[in-house]
Amino acid sequence: LASASASTVRQVKLDRESELRIEVANETPLRLRVLNGNAEIFGTELPPEIWLTFPPRLKFAVFTWYGATIELDGTTETDYTADETPMVSYVNVHAILEGRRHRARASASKDSDTSQGPRVIVVGPTDSGKSTLSRMLLSWAAKQGWKPTFVDLDIGQGSITAPGCIAATPIEMPIDPVEGIPLEMPLVYFFGHATPSNNVDLYRVLVKELAQTLEKQFTGNAESRAAGMVVNTMGWIEGVGYELLLHAIDTFSANVVLVLGQEKLFSLLRDVLKNRPNVDVVKLQKSGGVVSRNTKVRQKARSYRIREYFYGLVNDLSPHSYVANFNDLHVYRIGGGPQAPRSALPIGADPVANPLRLVLVTSDQVQELIHLVLAVSYAEEPEQIISSNVAGFIYVTEVDMGRKQIKYLSPSAGVLPGKYLVAGTLSWIET
Ligand code: ADP
Repeated sequence: LASASASTVRQVKLDRESELRIEVANETPLRLRVLNGNAEIFGTELPPEIWLTFPPRLKFAVFTWYGATIELDGTTETDYTADETPMVSYVNVHAILEGRRHRARASASKDSDTSQGPRVIVVGPTDSGKSTLSRMLLSWAAKQGWKPTFVDLDIGQGSITAPGCIAATPIEMPIDPVEGIPLEMPLVYFFGHATPSNNVDLYRVLVKELAQTLEKQFTGNAESRAAGMVVNTMGWIEGVGYELLLHAIDTFSANVVLVLGQEKLFSLLRDVLKNRPNVDVVKLQKSGGVVSRNTKVRQKARSYRIREYFYGLVNDLSPHSYVANFNDLHVYRIGGGPQAPRSALPIGADPVANPLRLVLVTSDQVQELIHLVLAVSYAEEPEQIISSNVAGFIYVTEVDMGRKQIKYLSPSAGVLPGKYLVAGTLSWIET
């Protein structure tokens, strides 16, 4: 078995349309290079002969269209080659999207329908390869000079920023197989929880805000309109999760729905969307290489992701530590709790929770903030918090109830870029 091999350099020869599937070891990185031929990782072509270093635990595949020889240096959890992949069907989808982008760009009219490139939404259960397919479609488009917009609605395992957020960013270059999506200036809305069921109404509102902001940006930008977007979604496809998918399809005016790995979801969506002639619902096969992750692994991945936000992928960032008087901060929670105490309500009325209510965290509740990730909102007034995107995040490392002070980490030095902070349930224990 390859997994037990010592840390020696070895070569793997890949036939055309096959891939080398790799899980990097848990503790040590892996070096890899293309010796000859051409190969790509999730849509991004690898440079010839240059060694690339992949961090521990990363799971990926090196795919070749025409054959390649790959050299590996280091141990892996597993590595094996597979010659059965759905890559041809994926690249066929790309070719169709490409045609639509050209048509959108060529359309002389300023008509919003014809100048709009493909709006793709990728749906399917967890671990069906949604993020990976999104990534390929974006990288292939970027390779051809387009700047498609990537929208990530997956608050559990998002790939644009910290968990607990929905976000969008233009993809200007094929996505780096090691670094992932560059963190420059994404448009981020903070939900604050790892699952939408904590506050489904808020999730819907934020999806709408994000879509509206993008719509405004597209209006003034024919190039990004024509390039279109790829929307990645959550793996929650039952019940409310299914309704949230329909909501996302509507809200982003998706015109291509790619369904991965589930016949039932495909037939449900095909039926419900059959009266919309301009929406194509396409069924795609799940790759046998997709690695399943249980709840615990997913939770761990979230922690690594938060850690990465503050410390970088390979500890290459050093966050700044600050102490603040709690009374100088304005921390809000969204939703939860009864609207008014029972005593303030008419007799017989039930106190209802308002999911969009803003609740100021008071100084006697500071303790609740320990180990939470707080978002720094761009809002100028508390009333704007829900409709505002966020600049970034801080992490509360210590709370001093006596002094009413908190100690926090921030990725950047100096004053926070916004006055209001938003708390949810997203927490992290530094290890
Ligand atoms: P989803 O978004 O549906 O939850 P992902 O696209 O995140 O699924 O895939 C789950 C995991 O499987 C990721 O770690 C991804 O890198 C890995 N993966 C996907 N496709 C392959 C493949 N062909 N070979 C090896 N690993 C893969």
